[in-house]
Order: sequence, then structure tokens, then C-alpha cells
Amino acid sequence: MVIDFKSGGKPNDITKKSLPENIQLNLYAMAIREKYGKLPVRATLFYIKDNTVVDYQPTEDSIRAFSESLKKMLAAIYNGEFPALPNYQRCSWCAYGSLCEAQEKSGEGGGE
Ligand code: SF4
Repeated sequence: MVIDFKSGGKPNDITKKSLPENIQLNLYAMAIREKYGKLPVRATLFYIKDNTVVDYQPTEDSIRAFSESLKKMLAAIYNGEFPALPNYQRCSWCAYGSLCEAQEKSGEGGGE
């Protein structure tokens, strides 16, 4: 089992359904497989502020799908593609907010 403890509360866009695409948890799962030869039974986000747990069971299929997404993501990064993904919750604490033209300030915009 791998647990990533988060100091804040659970964001609304983090759900059991979204976890197979979660970058951190899947990278941790891949690292555990690399070191110990098998995937963790569970990959968990634990939000300390509201005592909430969200987890999923990584499988070879889910990790394979994530790896394909990761390759595309890395290719885009290597090509200098960094599209802004404004989201009120994320933008409200982002350290780059004062520099970012895409920052969502109202919470009423489209965002993701
Ligand atoms: S302020 Fe800009 S860089 Fe920061 S999260 Fe929002 S869109 Fe992304």
C-alpha cells in the first residue's frame, strides 16, 4: 500500500474514479513496482484536514494506460507545450498567480 498524506482538504475533482489518472499516485505505484517487483495493493490519498481517504487498486492495465498518458505528457513538455489549465481552486493558491494571464479569480469561469 502507498499512502500520500495531504495537509489540506480533499479537492472536489479528486474522486475514486479520477485516481487511475492521478500523476503522483501512479508514479509512486510504478516506483514501488520497480523497487519491489509488484504493484502496491492500494494507492491512497489521505487528506488530513477533513480526514478523508480516496484510494484505488492499481493494476497492470491501469498502469499501462497511465504510462501511455505519461509518454504523451512528456512529449508535449519536451516540445515546449505548457497550456494553462485554470481552475479556481488550484489558481487560488498557485504561486504563479501574479504572473499568469490565465488565472481564474472568480470561481465562476469554465476552468476544468
Ligand atoms: S494561476 Fe495560472 S499557472 Fe497557476 S494554476 Fe492557475 S492557470 Fe495554472
